[in-house]
Amino acid sequence: MDITKQLDKVQFDTQAIQQLDSAHYLHPFTDHNALAARGARVMVKGDGIYLWDSDGHKILDAMSGLWCVNIGYGRTSMADAVYKQMQTLPFYNSFFNTTNLPAVQLAALLVDVSPPQFNHVFFTGSGSEANDTIVRMVRRYWELMGQSERHVIISRHNAYHGSTIAGVSLGGMAGMHAQGGPMVPGIVHIGQPSYLEGGSGMTPDEFGLVAAGWLEERIRELGPDNVAAFIGEPVQGAGGVIIPPPTYWPEIQRICDKYGILLIADEVICGFGRLGAWFGSTLLGIKPDLIAFAKGVTSGYIPLGGVLVGDRVAAVLTEKGGDFNHGFTYSGHPVACAAALENIRILRDEQLVEKVAQDTGPYLKQKFTALADHPLVGHADSCGFVAGLNLVRRKGATVHGNEVFDGDLGVGMICRGYMFERGIIMRAVGDRMIIAPPLVTTREQIDEMTGKIGAALDDTLAELRRRGIAA
Ligand SMILES: *Cc1c(COP(=O)(O)O)cnc(C)c1O
Repeated sequence: MDITKQLDKVQFDTQAIQQLDSAHYLHPFTDHNALAARGARVMVKGDGIYLWDSDGHKILDAMSGLWCVNIGYGRTSMADAVYKQMQTLPFYNSFFNTTNLPAVQLAALLVDVSPPQFNHVFFTGSGSEANDTIVRMVRRYWELMGQSERHVIISRHNAYHGSTIAGVSLGGMAGMHAQGGPMVPGIVHIGQPSYLEGGSGMTPDEFGLVAAGWLEERIRELGPDNVAAFIGEPVQGAGGVIIPPPTYWPEIQRICDKYGILLIADEVICGFGRLGAWFGSTLLGIKPDLIAFAKGVTSGYIPLGGVLVGDRVAAVLTEKGGDFNHGFTYSGHPVACAAALENIRILRDEQLVEKVAQDTGPYLKQKFTALADHPLVGHADSCGFVAGLNLVRRKGATVHGNEVFDGDLGVGMICRGYMFERGIIMRAVGDRMIIAPPLVTTREQIDEMTGKIGAALDDTLAELRRRGIAA
């Protein structure tokens, strides 16, 4: 039976669920007073790129859940793979000289789909744990190299690396650093490669070199002998889909090589096809020593994360390291690994990464960047299957001449509300509206998506004009 019809038969008492929710469930990144006043939206079903809420609304999920449902919702072969593994061996640990088949198979498969310098994998339960692991692993590496003074990790403002204490310390989100400190020592931040924010008076390529130069400046200030590693997302996700100029990453690589410091790519979003390549590093021209992954590795069906460990680090850890006193109960969890194996099989068999690279990614770029013709949109860009557009009060002659809204007006959130009303989920980061659709999204669905976005932009502009806010 058609899913929509099936859902029509189910009656949810949305209010009762919302009351229980607000009484007992503490949500991540949430103001609970505000949530209690509004009531949470209750998601009950997903199929393909669509979600249904408890009131029967069908919503196009242009955010893939939280950047993760790359193969789309409702895949029965994923359910089958997990069911089979749960019946066979639901859990065993990988401590004390034991292993399990899905973990071994997945490690080998990840080595196969990852760049050539990677031959080893460490499994975690999430992206945050992957980055925590990286902090300890990088520092352990330099201890084993006899250079334990090399412990400082350089990251970037407005980076997102997770919510555990090491994840939040690596990240550069001011609102997160302001709470629950002090942060982990030995982590410093440089500016982000945001052309819109910092590139006035320069071409994107010039700005890319300037922004990468901030790394070299900071290494010199700290003393190269104190610096362990640099970490960055190939394309910043939660920070607002910040796509760096093409000159940026190759210059970062050159600087890391020059000073011998490790290069870490946080590919929790960019990995597994999101940018139209298995890993964003390859696309953007870098050869990292370590890669953090999570989200897309299982398309979010079951939690799993990990670290791809490059030969440079793996050789030292395995040959001179002895015990690395680090690991999680769920490292190499057989059910999570079975889900990842099936997810990667789907990505491969359906050639989803190639499709995004050659067909639907370029089509999305064409349709999405055309939204910049809208009077409310100052700039729109995309990379593979991430994209963003900036809402502006008045357009200037160049992107740096745009007149922006007062941040306190919350124009992005107003726009996000209209997106929901039009049946599409788009995320607001300030006044930048972003998407990261499932990799299975077809050309027809991209038309539907950009059509809905255009309509919601019209709704937003109409309200802003009524209130005398927009020009
Ligand atoms: C989501 C995310 C993380 C954290 O992953 P969790 O699974 O939520 O712990 C880390 N890095 C990046 C780039 C992310 O987008």
